[in-house]
Amino acid sequence: MEWMIETLRVLREIRDWSDRRDTNGDRSAATREALHRATAAAEAEVKPIVVERMGPARAKAPERKRERREEDRGGGGGKPQIPLRKIDRNALTVVRRLQRADFKAYLVGGCVRDLLLGLEPKDFDIATDARPEDVKRIFKRNSRIIGRRFRLVHVHFGRNQILEVSTFRANITDDDASEDQDLLIRRDNVFGSEEEDAQRRDFTINGLFYDPTSGRILDHVDGLADIERRYLRMIGDPEIRLREDPVRILRAIRFKAKTHVEIDDALFAAMIAHREELLRCAPARILEESLRLLRIGYAQETVRLLAETGVLELLFPIVQEFIEQPEPITVIGPKGEKTYDRLPYILRHLEVLDDIIARDEDVDDAVALAALFVAPVLERLEDPELSPGDRTRITSDLLREAGAPITLTKRLHESMRQLFLAHRRFLKTSNRRKRGRGSATDSQLQFLEIHLRANELPLDALDRARR
Ligand code: ATP
Ligand code: MG
Repeated sequence: MEWMIETLRVLREIRDWSDRRDTNGDRSAATREALHRATAAAEAEVKPIVVERMGPARAKAPERKRERREEDRGGGGGKPQIPLRKIDRNALTVVRRLQRADFKAYLVGGCVRDLLLGLEPKDFDIATDARPEDVKRIFKRNSRIIGRRFRLVHVHFGRNQILEVSTFRANITDDDASEDQDLLIRRDNVFGSEEEDAQRRDFTINGLFYDPTSGRILDHVDGLADIERRYLRMIGDPEIRLREDPVRILRAIRFKAKTHVEIDDALFAAMIAHREELLRCAPARILEESLRLLRIGYAQETVRLLAETGVLELLFPIVQEFIEQPEPITVIGPKGEKTYDRLPYILRHLEVLDDIIARDEDVDDAVALAALFVAPVLERLEDPELSPGDRTRITSDLLREAGAPITLTKRLHESMRQLFLAHRRFLKTSNRRKRGRGSATDSQLQFLEIHLRANELPLDALDRARR
């Protein structure tokens, strides 16, 4: 099977290459025709097998899908499906220049999803059939080829904007779904067709292309219907796709929290069944996606979902242990005692983090993580017998332990440690009133605000720390 897909891809490549060439003579026309015939024949061989592998729901509706796709392509005229004014000008420039050079080029992924859902996209990614070298030739010194695992092009606009242009690629690992087979993707992906590029993406709502020139969405994955009903569904079989790349579990949680979509039942079951495979992924990716979960401005919801899916206990066991203790948390403030249940108590801290992010302040990774760890760490430092030296040592050990499953970088561990040490100083000054001045950094202030507001403590310590 693998070799047939491989042969088909090579054929498509040669066919596309030959189509792009400036061909006048009869001989090249005949070669092109032969290539088209051979590719079509190979497609006819491979397609039924691929469709079958995608499961019965997909196999049943290829006809309907094809018709819808034709409609979606639509071409010129009519109202654009996304108004041009909502699209970043530079992203439009990149798409148009690629198209003018006779390549396919579309907006893709999160930006199309967010625009259709009425949200503001974070960035605009572009997918194309141009190879990285072709893209580089078009954008010359304003572009840079990056990436080792898969090469992409960064197109620079001024100092601050980078647009990512990636060549269509294919994912051909979903060959066999047997229980014990290791499906984790370790090798590089390979270039592929437009359709293959849509199919290799994670969720249907992330698999749409938008062509701003024709004003049409190209939907190879039945994503539009899912956008309409706000539904998060894996492209292909979630069992297989999550085993290929378990980081998609964290991505599902992120998209659910951010766009309020409903998670498909089969996807949710697979997320729970395969959560432990998360720890097999490259630590740097787990760390990156975990930080994204905390920093998108919906940390309260993502952490609630991490707890619900049992991922919390894998990635942040210190937090899980904290919430599993039976007795509630008691906080003594100026207005007396308050008690909180444990998970809600953790979530209160994240709610303040979300507020700070909503104010558009820059939030350091260390602050985001510290907001999650602060309750369990401070609880273990409660013993009044501990000397300052003990506390410093225990804080450092606890943070190392807390960060171990997601493999914190040294820099991140150190920044968090500094935050906790400074935090104690600021809290002390708030207890003893006058002593000590501020000159706190922005991160220290944010961390202090998280602690004070989550515990419903007076905020004057913040003003003092600011001074
Ligand atoms: P955000 O708006 O938060 O950036 P996004 O959907 O753009 O969300 P990115 O991580 O920027 O997320 O990825 C861009 C696109 O690349 C996704 O929309 C998806 O189509 C594809 N993608 C990213 N990561 C994966 C993955 N692990 N597996 C499959 N497809 C992925
Ligand atoms: Mg993105």
